[in-house]
Order: sequence, then structure tokens, then C-alpha cells
Amino acid sequence: MNIDGKALSESIQKELGIQVQAITESGRRAPHLAAILIGENPASAAYVRNKIKACEKAGFKSSLIQRPVDISETELLALIEDMNNDKLLDGYIVQLPLPAHISEEKVTLAIHPNKDVDGFHPYNVGLMTIGKPQYLPATPFGILMMLERYGIETTGKRCVVVGRSNIVGTPMSILMSRNSKVGNCTVTLVHSRSKDMKAECLRADILIVAIGKANFVTADMVADGAVVIDVGINSIADASTKSGQRLVGDVDFDGVAAKCSFITPVPGGVGPMTVTGLLVNTLKAYELYAQSL
Ligand code: NDP
Repeated sequence: MNIDGKALSESIQKELGIQVQAITESGRRAPHLAAILIGENPASAAYVRNKIKACEKAGFKSSLIQRPVDISETELLALIEDMNNDKLLDGYIVQLPLPAHISEEKVTLAIHPNKDVDGFHPYNVGLMTIGKPQYLPATPFGILMMLERYGIETTGKRCVVVGRSNIVGTPMSILMSRNSKVGNCTVTLVHSRSKDMKAECLRADILIVAIGKANFVTADMVADGAVVIDVGINSIADASTKSGQRLVGDVDFDGVAAKCSFITPVPGGVGPMTVTGLLVNTLKAYELYAQSL
């Protein structure tokens, strides 16, 4: 069965919209999310556009702050400081990747943890790790919501996460192993140095793949009846499309789908749920920290 991340995301965003409407009807200001976009990377611009669009649809206030690719690190850190101090801004993200001359680590540390709705600041990562999350990283959060809303049993299951990045694989592996409503799995985290990737993947009841390699996971690597969550977004050449390109995941969807109990497509699977995770975090930031009007 296909997990329709787009439809699920729309329905959760509608629920958020109802909550935001109740807030504004009570005379309070709407929650406010901002995004900083550096440079002209088309994929980054598209991701940010989707986030802004979703905000507007759900009644959030949104701001897009664009800066040229040659902005200095000092200037960006000053902008971040201003945003930390803006009482009418609940949360913001700095769209990754950053230009090479800017330290991602410095930027992540500069964002105030209370406004870190991407959930990347070590303070928020630490809270997540001890099971007292403030904001969960948006993509793993979106996947948890997906598993929950689709009623997919996780307790006692064997979960294999492929990829160990700080923003997807590592937090995902932590969340799936926690003693919580969604989680409680026995988790294996595999990466580029793992031996016998196929054998590891075949053990998975729930296989979550986030490596950024088009169609990497093939049918022979997936057990019958497994749940497959494909995080990857890869652009490949396709002469049959207008742009000459098409998006695919890290999983060979056509080969794998028939073997799965559930599978997420790309596009239309995890991507929209990431945006939803961000909005849920922003509403939480508003509820926790917004002072008044
Ligand atoms: P990173 O490049 O930061 O990390 C990739 C991870 O995959 C690394 O841990 C790497 O291992 C591992 N890896 C790479 N090649 C292999 C291999 N052949 N076998 C096993 N492991 C491998 O990627 P991200 O986590 O940031 O992103 C992964 C994918 O997910 C990308 O396609 C990205 O575009 C997409 N993405 C999608 C989102 C969404 O909303 N749908 C959100 C974020 C990302 P090692 O550590 O050993 O190098």
C-alpha cells in the first residue's frame, strides 16, 4: 500500500489551520515562521517555497529572507541574532546547504533553541535523545506522524535505518528506539562502512532509507511485507519529461513496491510530511514562547 504523504500532510495542515484560526479569532497574532535562503540553489529555493506556501495555507504568518551567496558569515550571524531577538517571530530555519565559506555548525549553534523549529540545535537534539523533546527534527518527526496516522505497529519490530546524517538518519534511529508510542523498535543503523548491506536490510520489518543515492535499495534487499520509508530525493535524467529530469528516491519504487506492506513514493511521501513537521514545531514554539499579541 502506498503511504500518501501529500494527502496526509494536507489533512494535518488543515487541522493546524483550524487551530490557527481559533488563535487569530481570539484576537491573538498568528504564529510566525521565517526562512533564510542563501544564494540561488534551485532545490533549496523550491523547498523553501513549499514551506512558505504551506504556512500561508494554514494561516501562519511567513517571511522569506533572501541573501546573496556571498553574504559573509558575520553578516549571517548578525541576521540570526536579530531574528533571535524578534519578539514577533516564533521560529525560523536556515535552509541547508550553506555556501562553503559559512560554517553550518556555527549557524546551527547561533539559532536560539526556542526558535530552532528545524530541531537541529544540540540543545534540542539532547532533549530528543533523553526522551523529553522540545522540537523534533522535521523529517524524522514527519515520518513518526506518518507511521502513527497509518496505524503502523512499531513496538518490538526490527527497524533498519540506512544513513546516519545529523538531520535524518541519526535522529531517526534514536526516535525509533525510544520507549514511546511510535518507536520501541530494535534498531540497526547502517551507513557507507557497514558490511553486507543487503543482509542488514533484509532483516528489517521497517526499513528507512536516507542516503541520497537514486534507486539504491532494490527488491532483493527488502523482506516480504516490510514497511519501506524512502527519504531520498534525487534528480535523474529522463528525456520523456519537459525538464529532462525527474525526481526519484533512494528506493527502486517500481521493483520494491509489490513486496511491501507499506511504501512511501517520491515525490509525495516523506517530503510533504517534513513541511508538516516544521509547521507543528512552529505552532508549538508559538504556544510555548509567544508573549501576547
Ligand atoms: P547525507 O549526505 O548527509 O548523509 C548520507 C548518509 O548516507 C551518510 O550517513 C552516508 O554514510 C550514508 N551513505 C551514503 N552512501 C551509502 C551507501 N552506499 N550505503 C550506505 N550508506 C550510505 O544525507 P541526508 O541525510 O541529508 O539526506 C539523505 C537523502 O535524503 C538525500 O537524498 C536528501 O535529499 C534527502 N532528504 C530528504 C528530505 C525530505 O524531506 N524528504 C529531508 C532531508 C534529506 P557515511 O556517514 O558513512 O558517509
